[in-house]
Amino acid sequence: MKKLALHWQIIIGLVLGIIWAILSSKLGWSQFTIGWIAPFGTIFINLLKLIAVPLVLFSIINGVSNIGDPSSLGRMGGKTLLAYLITTILAVSLGLVLVNVIKPGKLIDEQSRIDNRISYELWAGSQNLEIKDGVNYLHDPKFLDRAERISDLSRSELKDATVNEKMNTANQAKEAGPLQPLVDIVPDNIFKSLADNGLMLQVIFFALFFGISLLFIPDEKSKPVEAFIDGVMEVFLKMVALIMKAAPFFVFALLAGVVSKMAGDDIGKVVEIFKGLSWYSLTVMLGLGLMIFVVYPAIFKMFIRVISYFGFFKAMSPAQTLAFSTSSSAATLPVTMECVEDNLGVDKKITSFVLPIGATVNMDGTCLYQAVAVVFLAQLHMIDLTIAQQLTIVLTATLASIGSAAVPSAGLVMLIIVLQSVGLNPAWIGIILPVDRILDMMRTVVNVTGDATVCSLIAKSEGMLNYQEQKEKEVTV
Ligand code: ASP
Repeated sequence: MKKLALHWQIIIGLVLGIIWAILSSKLGWSQFTIGWIAPFGTIFINLLKLIAVPLVLFSIINGVSNIGDPSSLGRMGGKTLLAYLITTILAVSLGLVLVNVIKPGKLIDEQSRIDNRISYELWAGSQNLEIKDGVNYLHDPKFLDRAERISDLSRSELKDATVNEKMNTANQAKEAGPLQPLVDIVPDNIFKSLADNGLMLQVIFFALFFGISLLFIPDEKSKPVEAFIDGVMEVFLKMVALIMKAAPFFVFALLAGVVSKMAGDDIGKVVEIFKGLSWYSLTVMLGLGLMIFVVYPAIFKMFIRVISYFGFFKAMSPAQTLAFSTSSSAATLPVTMECVEDNLGVDKKITSFVLPIGATVNMDGTCLYQAVAVVFLAQLHMIDLTIAQQLTIVLTATLASIGSAAVPSAGLVMLIIVLQSVGLNPAWIGIILPVDRILDMMRTVVNVTGDATVCSLIAKSEGMLNYQEQKEKEVTV
């Protein structure tokens, strides 16, 4: 009998995990699931993340030294960054168009939106922020009662612990000067950067610097270093292959844990929360769907041609299912690299350079989601954002997605900065928090697919895409 392809095995594990969580919620076993099954999901993520950081380091050094001469490195680096930037801006713009057309925030009943608006005005007053749309509900005699009631409410809302904790991280970023993001890219201690998963941009900087310097030293010195790094890469990829053999089980545990934590012992509660936020969630999903089924296929049709989008999709499915289950592009990176190399036939020279950078800086799904979320939250509070504010969103969501770590919920944390950039209350991330995990899973799929699309594009333009030869091959990981 032919063995079931890995991505199908993973999908089965995923579905069984969800069914298990629902059953255990109904039977009151959620604690058992969280205590005895979920830890295997954490072990899985740990194993993948364990490999991600050294893999980014070694593979970029390897990629740079393989490219050989500095001028082709410059050309390829420039192309890669440009392609990542263009797809990111495309994604934010698509998100903005959708949320302005669908207006999910305006589909909520008007009375609660008026309450929201008053609490926003109270908050803006306390922050000395100017309200840009010139409307004022707070001092409207009609709403005086409400204003009194709400001022207490919004204060208690701000006390919410999870939200505050997330805000602290973002506030640190806010207090810094304009060049701080640039300063943050340059590490003062590479071992510290390697030890902290959030500092991937520093690791990339170091790897590029190291790789470029390697190009300038004599062959007899550089060759052994290159051979060593090449060998280490092989070991890491073997480790991934071994972990992936158990992926279906791990994914079962992961999903059982995630869904159980969401549901507690009351699955009905989850359904209720989803209903309230359903238009918002649907708008995000529609945008992500358009990226996957329209935008990327169009890129394939126009520029890549040698691979049908179906072929691409099939080749990438192990990475996509893994992205969905782990909510982390970094954890998925080793598998993304394998899929792009082995199944799409992209030369290792390209993948080892383009993909590790992409996993960190290119997050099309994340920035699309951030655009939708900010405008949705504004609509929910009866705030009309001006064109200038919407352009600010394009800029900050692009930067925020570059700065987001490739781990679960990173996009939500960075949303705080996007909200602040247009004078909105960062505590509002609490409103969309309940549905964030599921949207995170979906946007991570788009993030990974976007990286692979750009990687194929660069490979095609460099003449290093050998898909035809791979055509008959079984899709593997
Ligand atoms: N989880 C996403 C990723 O790793 C980032 C995000 O939260 O949007 O790609």
